[in-house]
Amino acid sequence: MLVSVTPGDLVVEILGAGSGYPTSSRDTSSLLVGAAEGWTAIECPGSIVHKLEARGLSMDLLRRLILTHKHIDHVYGVPHLVHAMGIEGRVEEINLLAPAQTLATVAEMVAVHELTDDWYPAIRLTEISAAGQSELLRVPSLRITATGVAHTCDTIALRFETEAAAVCYSSDTRPCASVTRLATGADILLHDCGGPHRLREAFSGGHSSAREAGIVAAEAGVRKLVLMHLGARDENILKECQLEAQATFGRPVDLAMDGMRWIFSGGGKRGA
Ligand SMILES: [Zn+2]
Ligand SMILES: [Zn+2]
Repeated sequence: MLVSVTPGDLVVEILGAGSGYPTSSRDTSSLLVGAAEGWTAIECPGSIVHKLEARGLSMDLLRRLILTHKHIDHVYGVPHLVHAMGIEGRVEEINLLAPAQTLATVAEMVAVHELTDDWYPAIRLTEISAAGQSELLRVPSLRITATGVAHTCDTIALRFETEAAAVCYSSDTRPCASVTRLATGADILLHDCGGPHRLREAFSGGHSSAREAGIVAAEAGVRKLVLMHLGARDENILKECQLEAQATFGRPVDLAMDGMRWIFSGGGKRGA
C-alpha cells in the first residue's frame, strides 16, 4: 500500500541495497523518495516497475527519475520502464535527470530498443552537473541538491530535504569532501561501501571502505550512517564492515537492506 505523504513529510525507502551483482537479499542499488510534491525514483534496476507496483505506486505518480551515473547496475532498467509506461498509456513525458554521460547512455538504450515512436511517452532529459554542487529542485515541500563525487565516471550524490529531515545518498564513490559537504547535518547518510578496509585493493578505485564511510559520516556530523552498495555474501564480512564503520563514525551503523524505509513527518519524526 502506498504511504500517504503530507506537506513537510519525507519518505525514503531502499528498493535495492546491493552492488553490481545482486544477492538474494540485496538487488542493485536504488531508492524511492516521497514528499508532498510527489515521488522520485533514484537509479533504475530492471525490476523497477515491479518494485513500484508492489508499493502501490502507479507510473503516473512518479514525478522524476534521477540516475547518478552511467554504470549498468544503475541504469539497465530504463528501457523497460519506458516500455511499461507505454503499455500503461502514459502521455505525460518522463522527467529524467542525470549527468551528461548518463544521458547519452540513456539515449542509446532507448534508441536500440526502438522506444522513440509516439506510442511511448517522450523523455525529457535534464543534465545534472557532475562538476560541483547544484540545486535540482526547490519547492516548499522538497529540496533536492546534487554534487559531483569521486567515482570512475561522472557521478553525483544527492540530498533530499524537507522541513522534517534531510537524507543524503552518496551513490558510488571514493571518500570525498563533496559528499561530506552535501551530507553535513543530515539525518541519514546512505554511503557506498565496497568492503572492509583490509580488502581495499580488491574493490575498484571507485568505492569506499567501511572505515572511510564512517569517517565521512563523522566529519559530516550525520545522525545515522547506513552502508549501501553492499556486494558481500559472507555475513562475517558484512559484520566486519558494520563494526569497522561504527569505530570511525563513533555511533551505531546499519547495513542497508532492500525494503528499509524511513518516514519523517513534518509534524515531528515518526520513525527512523
Ligand atoms: Zn554501482
Ligand atoms: Zn558505479
